[in-house]
Amino acid sequence: MNYNKKSIEDIDVAGKRVLCRCDFNVPTKEGRITSDKRIVAAMPTIEYLVNKGAKVILCSHMGKPKGEWKPELSLKVVADRLSQLLGKEVIMASDVAGEDSKAKAAALKNGDVMLLENTRYIKGETKNDPELSKALADLADIFVNDAFGTAHRAHSSTAGVADYLPAVSGYLVQKEVSIMGKALANPERPFVAILGGAKVSDKLNVINNLLEKVDTLIIGGGMAYTFLAAQGYSVGKSLVDNEKLDYCKEMMAKAEAKGVKLLLPVDTAIAASFPSPIDAEIPVEYVDCTAIPADQMGLDIGPKACAEFAAAAKAAKTVVWNGPMGVFENPTLAKGTIAVAQALADSDAVTIVGGGDSAAACEQLGFANAITHISTGGGASLEFLEGLELPGIACLEDK
Ligand code: AMP
Repeated sequence: MNYNKKSIEDIDVAGKRVLCRCDFNVPTKEGRITSDKRIVAAMPTIEYLVNKGAKVILCSHMGKPKGEWKPELSLKVVADRLSQLLGKEVIMASDVAGEDSKAKAAALKNGDVMLLENTRYIKGETKNDPELSKALADLADIFVNDAFGTAHRAHSSTAGVADYLPAVSGYLVQKEVSIMGKALANPERPFVAILGGAKVSDKLNVINNLLEKVDTLIIGGGMAYTFLAAQGYSVGKSLVDNEKLDYCKEMMAKAEAKGVKLLLPVDTAIAASFPSPIDAEIPVEYVDCTAIPADQMGLDIGPKACAEFAAAAKAAKTVVWNGPMGVFENPTLAKGTIAVAQALADSDAVTIVGGGDSAAACEQLGFANAITHISTGGGASLEFLEGLELPGIACLEDK
């Protein structure tokens, strides 16, 4: 996908009311933000709007209040953090697009910043209710979408509002889409994709689409065992989706027909049962994937697979990674995921990590600076890798 959407730099925002959808869905504990990464990621756009003298009206969802006014999901904590980061007051509205928001939006001066309450306090938000979209649009002159994390959702504040206002992207959306779009459309080769995670069924279209683009597709994590089973191996008690065996065979045939190298783990960490609790100390052994005993399950890739996957990542010019290689929540079973994260960090390639668990792994391991791009959107980046058009981006004006 070539990025041809207008951005904030393509529209005159000075003196205008700009409704900017951000992804402020930050984790909190006992009323405190535990990671402000998403707020920080939105700062370039917010600062640009402020510096240009726009009247900035920010909005976002947080958690899943499902139309209920849950005080623990109020965005007030975000307003406080934003005020600190911006070094100026962020005016907090007490509703989403109601009387208080209208009054406060009308009173904004150039360069002021206000934040609406959690958009999902309103039932219509996730239904893309035109009434809410219109009410949001009525607050502003321009819509900016900078929420890549929710760009795969057609909600009132992510897409519906664009029916009523000129709509452009913020810097974060622009950056996410242009880096990932370039990697998919015009990658430097060899182009290697590494997929992991629990289930094949979650990644059907991603696998299918990536096989059109990559030189090597690496499959690890729980989903690898369905592929191994489809090759005729006994995988013991490992996670296997019996309904997807034919699909895996089809994908392996497609890879062969296209000359794509499909790498599955050659060895695996095995244990008698899934760890419970998930981080419990667990005795594991390493065996080749051709020799998984009937009473054991594969829970991580083994050292030979780690070395093979790492070598492929290091030899690549572009690497995209989504999904852990094993039950990484358990330190003993995190070795495969760590090895892949390390390989990306060590690689000179353009390295892209698509949100979620793999992004968290890179950050926790302190590799974030060594990766070209860590997406802020797990679900959104997966849909992007599937080749889908994201509603929160499709709704923006073309250049
Ligand atoms: P996903 O949500 O599809 O990205 O999958 C992430 C989950 O897959 C993590 O919670 C991992 O614990 C789990 N997972 C990874 N490898 C395996 C495996 N071999 N068996 C069972 N679960 C796994």
